Amino acid sequence: MNTSDENEFQVVVAGAGPVGMAVAIELGLRGIRTLVCDPRGPVEYNVARINLTNARSMEHFRRWGIADKLRENDPIPSDVVRDLTYVTRANGRIILNVEGAYEWREQPSFAAEVPEWAPHHAIEKTLREKILSIPAVTFMPFTTIKDFTQDSEGVTLTYEDQSGDCQDFRVWAGG
Ligand SMILES: Cc1cc2nc3c(=O)[nH]c(=O)nc-3n(C[C@H](O)[C@H](O)[C@H](O)COP(=O)(O)OP(=O)(O)OC[C@H]3O[C@@H](n4cnc5c(N)ncnc54)[C@H](O)[C@@H]3O)c2cc1C
Repeated sequence: MNTSDENEFQVVVAGAGPVGMAVAIELGLRGIRTLVCDPRGPVEYNVARINLTNARSMEHFRRWGIADKLRENDPIPSDVVRDLTYVTRANGRIILNVEGAYEWREQPSFAAEVPEWAPHHAIEKTLREKILSIPAVTFMPFTTIKDFTQDSEGVTLTYEDQSGDCQDFRVWAGG
């Protein structure tokens, strides 16, 4: 990071997974200058992990204005059936079928959103696009936080960049 302004950021988030990016969105939308670091590249997303964003999480996506974006980024074809089916066993009797349970049709009475079956990389892509759109948030790829120490005036972070060089960075409390 080539910055000489030690007051540039108020918060540093180590890790651009779903949690780190959710934190950055919440802070950034409140105007808190936030730096998000991750060892991965700018468009490198984790795969094959989360495959469902449940209704409550989708309500957060809706509040952040990206619920539709997640549906848009979902690579699963729209003709794949998104019912929720309770069965006695795989080839057994259907107990209950909730048609289109994981498909946005209209707002249900019990929640502002429905769950979305989108794979992990679509979730990360959607969140990444959002943090990049928030002026108060800066994303720094290829960066690993190696250490930090806290004192009464702030936090000193040590990070490693893509070339393997380590540098210190200071974040002042109340900066
Ligand atoms: C095989 C597998 C299957 C899963 N399946 C499901 C599922 O079906 N449904 C479900 O809800 N959940 C599932 N999970 C769990 C889900 O992936 C995690 O709960 C979720 O990813 C946690 O998010 P996170 O942001 O806390 O951490 P992570 O997604 O792990 O993100 C952490 C980030 O921090 C970065 N990082 C690490 N160290 C540093 C450092 N020193 N400096 C800077 N950045 C750093 C990493 O590169 C990464 O991007 C699964 C997990 C695994 C491993």
